[in-house]
Amino acid sequence: MSDPTRPPGPKIIAVANQKGGVGKTTTTINLGAALAEQGKRVLIVDLDPQGNASTGLGVDDRKYTTYDLILGDTPLADVVHETDTKNLLLIPATVDLSSADIELYSNEKRSFLLHDALRQHAMDRFDLDFILIDCPPSLNLLTVNAMVAAHSVLVPLQSEFFALEGLSQLMLTIREVRTSANPNLRIEGIVLTMYDGRNNLSQQVESDARDNLGDLVFKTIIPRNVRVSEAPSFAMPVLSYDAESKGAVAYRELAAELIGNQTKIAA
Ligand code: ADP
Ligand code: MG
Repeated sequence: MSDPTRPPGPKIIAVANQKGGVGKTTTTINLGAALAEQGKRVLIVDLDPQGNASTGLGVDDRKYTTYDLILGDTPLADVVHETDTKNLLLIPATVDLSSADIELYSNEKRSFLLHDALRQHAMDRFDLDFILIDCPPSLNLLTVNAMVAAHSVLVPLQSEFFALEGLSQLMLTIREVRTSANPNLRIEGIVLTMYDGRNNLSQQVESDARDNLGDLVFKTIIPRNVRVSEAPSFAMPVLSYDAESKGAVAYRELAAELIGNQTKIAA
């Protein structure tokens, strides 16, 4: 049964940071799995030509992908795949998507293709609560498509030196997207990833982030945890691979915090 208090359509969140290796894909997969575990219906859109989210969720059938979603006329039912996690769906990506970035430039609706694709009527039958978009490590047109399509941007920040560098460029892109195409785009929050509490540097990055960015930083911190890094090679979220690991616990907390924030906004 649909929840009468729920706003129409899923909440769409772009998981973005133009730096590679900061935990975008890990956060997309595991936040998605944690939301799904809490009964939410979640679709992950793999928007990175590297296809790491698709590999990490064990979706090997990639005949129809995000490329077809945004540039083809393939029926949605063919591009949306089930995963082994209940309530967690995926649109996979392959390296084809790198040519999409170029093809998009010659398209009149270049920034809006993902926006329009995710709002087509055929999406309703999946009865989604959340769509999480795993962005590539770049501020290219694919990432702009994600920001135009999204209600908010969630930024993983690796707890290491130079973490805050590059953030101003990301914020600038968000402001540009607000001005040009999506005035209501919000920052969902900044989440510290790969945090090592024994390391002074991690603590320093956390206090810098909280001093500079205040409430934008999620209370939940994702610790560095070897189970998190092992899970993708077993093609599953850490919540399935080792349900009681520190990483799984942290992503559950992040999901709860995110859901709590939605309630605050709605109130
Ligand atoms: P991005 O998508 O931003 O490029 P990834 O999510 O792929 O980053 O993460 C980069 C690497 O760091 C991967 O090998 C991943 O397994 C590892 N990693 C990410 N988060 C954690 C964590 N909390 N603990 C340990 N390793 C992690
Ligand atoms: Mg990635």
